[in-house]
Amino acid sequence: MEKDVDIKKVVHQHAEIEQSFAGFTIRTEHAQSTVGTPDRLPPSPDEVARSSRELEEIAKEISKCRKCDLGSSRTHAVPGEGSPAARIMFVGEAPGADEDAQGRPFVGRAGQLLDKIIAASGLKREEVYIGNVLKCRPPENRDPRPDELISCLPYLQRQVEIINPEVIVALGAHAARMLLNTNKAIGQLRGQFHEYYPGLGKPPIKLMATFHPAYLLRNYSEENRRYVWEDMKKVLAEIGLPVPQ
Ligand code: URA
Repeated sequence: MEKDVDIKKVVHQHAEIEQSFAGFTIRTEHAQSTVGTPDRLPPSPDEVARSSRELEEIAKEISKCRKCDLGSSRTHAVPGEGSPAARIMFVGEAPGADEDAQGRPFVGRAGQLLDKIIAASGLKREEVYIGNVLKCRPPENRDPRPDELISCLPYLQRQVEIINPEVIVALGAHAARMLLNTNKAIGQLRGQFHEYYPGLGKPPIKLMATFHPAYLLRNYSEENRRYVWEDMKKVLAEIGLPVPQ
């Protein structure tokens, strides 16, 4: 019985997702990641190749990492994936069961919703970068523990430094709090730009916090969908991409 109810809920949500995000889809043909702005030129092919090699190196390190206990309970590490020249980098919390099974970020239900949001923004998944604060799945999807976050954060910091996106979109409270070093609630953080500091002497990177797609699935209201969509529209406007109305 419980299962019946869940399936109905999932089917209903799916229909709503199709309506609310696909309705905004404007598929632009140009590769968004290669478009520059007046104060920022797109990276050269050599730079992109170097970033790609460096990201591969980090992925290899992560696959052998045993800095915390999650290294021995995971099936696959999930380093992240996407364009090494991405203008937008999405950062979630940690891999779930589907991600752990495949070694890829955001491939479960929350990932399908994220894919819709990316497509509705006129972007392709391969043009952005998608990663997580934790690279390994916490058992039973429990919240990340402080020691795990502290051990894993340097990988994300290096990925951000290499990709050097114009905007980071922090998905949910864990990612936003970790990157902004704050304890504020996601409701207080979302909807406005913050600054992420990649390191001494490096200019800050704009950071937009928004609700995690998994939260959106659990709290599937018109209002929450609108919040996420408004946050994404601000991100697109900030980097000069067309903003669907
Ligand atoms: N939730 C996350 O935060 N990250 C994933 O990769 C999948 C679900």
